[in-house]
Amino acid sequence: MVLFNQFCKINQEVLESKVMKVPSSLEIIQQDIKICKKCELCNTRNNAVPGIGDENADVVFIGEAPGKNEDLHGEPFIGTAGKRLDDALENAGLTRSSVYITNIVKCRPPNNRVPNDTEKSMCNNYLEEELQIINPKIICLLGNTPFYSILGGKEISKNHGQIIHKNNRVYFISFHPAATIYNQKLLDVFKNDIKKLVNELQKIKNKN
Ligand code: URA
Ligand code: SF4
Repeated sequence: MVLFNQFCKINQEVLESKVMKVPSSLEIIQQDIKICKKCELCNTRNNAVPGIGDENADVVFIGEAPGKNEDLHGEPFIGTAGKRLDDALENAGLTRSSVYITNIVKCRPPNNRVPNDTEKSMCNNYLEEELQIINPKIICLLGNTPFYSILGGKEISKNHGQIIHKNNRVYFISFHPAATIYNQKLLDVFKNDIKKLVNELQKIKNKN
């Protein structure tokens, strides 16, 4: 009987190991982010907000930090700015599930202030790991915070639509979708930028 019980237990373990899903490296990072306490933003957040999307995405979008809705639900770009981003993606023939969307910092800064240098550097490992795993063909920086944090750039209004190569990565500069909320002209510019991004991606794919 003891032997039989052991046999059943072993069989069950074999079964579980086959049925149970082994988490991907991206899922492990996402789990790490959810419990992270490396900077002070963990004290005021409701939920940390890991990136979301396709592990094999050609394009990664990087925003600044989660806002109120994102903090409440643990998902990036689901508020008003996210709707603008979704519309621009759709207009350019992309879907949210075919790209990967993330932020410079994964927890909401109080009152949506810009994340400070300590917060950005504490959180940078997660972004670096996301980018290493996905290895996208092009990375779209949405607004001043990612433009400055990653490329040291300023003045989105003068630099949007540009491609920049750095450390074997290809970056595309664009506005933050929140900037288009009260500005119809900027919305058209933003939508055009995202179309241009898709064109650039096609050129990269044609070369390979
Ligand atoms: N703004 C951002 O930069 N990121 C989000 O996830 C939402 C709003
Ligand atoms: Fe951790 Fe980044 Fe959140 Fe800070 S912002 S607690 S480093 S996940």
